[in-house]
Amino acid sequence: MLRPVDEQQAIGLAAVAPLEPIDLPLLEAHGCVLAADVEALWPLPSFDNTSMDGYAVLAADVAGASEATPVQLRVVDDVPAGYRATERVSPGTAIRIMTGAPLPDGADAIVPVEGTDGGTDIVTITRSAEPGVFIRRAGEDVHAGEQVLRAGQYLSAREIAILAAAGHGSALVHPRPRVVVISTGNELVEPGTPLKHGLIADSNSYMLVTAAKQAGAAAYRAGPVIDDEDLFMRTLDDQLVRADLLVTSGGVSMGAYDTVKAVLSRLGTVEFTKVAMQPGMPQGFGTLGEENVPIVTLPGNPVSSYVSFEVFVRPLIRRMMGFANVTRPQVRASVLEGWASPANKTQFARVDLSVAEGRYVIRSTGAQGSHILGGLSRANALAVVPPEITEVKPGDVLTVYDLSREG
Ligand code: AMP
Ligand code: MG
Repeated sequence: MLRPVDEQQAIGLAAVAPLEPIDLPLLEAHGCVLAADVEALWPLPSFDNTSMDGYAVLAADVAGASEATPVQLRVVDDVPAGYRATERVSPGTAIRIMTGAPLPDGADAIVPVEGTDGGTDIVTITRSAEPGVFIRRAGEDVHAGEQVLRAGQYLSAREIAILAAAGHGSALVHPRPRVVVISTGNELVEPGTPLKHGLIADSNSYMLVTAAKQAGAAAYRAGPVIDDEDLFMRTLDDQLVRADLLVTSGGVSMGAYDTVKAVLSRLGTVEFTKVAMQPGMPQGFGTLGEENVPIVTLPGNPVSSYVSFEVFVRPLIRRMMGFANVTRPQVRASVLEGWASPANKTQFARVDLSVAEGRYVIRSTGAQGSHILGGLSRANALAVVPPEITEVKPGDVLTVYDLSREG
């Protein structure tokens, strides 16, 4: 009896929790999930200031100013952003001022430079100003002590901006999980090196590290490791200390050199199962070492490996990062041309997702074999075909993982 996909997912998710929060400098906190509410340490703006380059004036002095009836004022000071005026504005005077500079004492309006002749000793003003115009008031955006962010929020550029502006140089976040990817196989060589007959490039470890990073993890590659039990065991030992999550590729099927399965079965803390899915039937999950580091053993076939990562590893990474929702964004999409799907297995079909006439549509990217990397590379989505469906027909509506969206 094959195990349903959601059961295998639940086993992994039950074994992981958000990582212990740490305080990270803002640029490192970017991309992480906030672990505590954040309050503003001061109001925003924190002082009254001008929103225009121009002149700080008394509105009453310029009430009648126009092109036909200009008003002249004596310029008594000049304030760039970052400085304070040393003079005050009194009747008959103005202070030249640049955007962001504090409002000088006495002034109650700003005349933009465009309404003046730009004078530095005497300024001629040809535009009137209501009291308060072009003045940004202290606290009009955010009050001191106001909550600006909530625990659980993802820190993108916008959240980093409010943190910085409101007085915070760092943020308490769930750190990025450290994911170590170990690929196994005697046939693997480094990408970019010539192949001898029978050998292949180790595409999986590069694919999985990239996928883990895209999910938000700090991911590293160890290997490839040849199919040698002692060597694999030593590599696991070495990597355990620096990993929050271990991911292996290959060596888990029924073959004679399936090292991962042979070694980890003996340890007794990793369970190997067959999951009712295509691709990606052979799966393993468990924990290793004193710290109970979770380990997911992915099949070696590249497309199986990718789909298994998406279904079983990515949710663990997202949970460790503190996301409330750990699943990939999904849409419902109509099938343009049909394809076949295996009985009694959930199929994760590689498809191209697009929008036509205002609705989502999908098209298979071709052959669905577990070695068809070309088809995977043309896909931007995975269509989920339920176990009871063996024939996907044009017009059917399926749930689709939109791989172009992270969260
Ligand atoms: P295995 O699960 O080790 O039996 O491998 C299944 C298939 O996936 C074989 O055709 C392997 O050559 C291939 N394979 C295994 N590991 C990798 C890898 N790291 N990169 C690309 N293909 C792989
Ligand atoms: Mg192998």
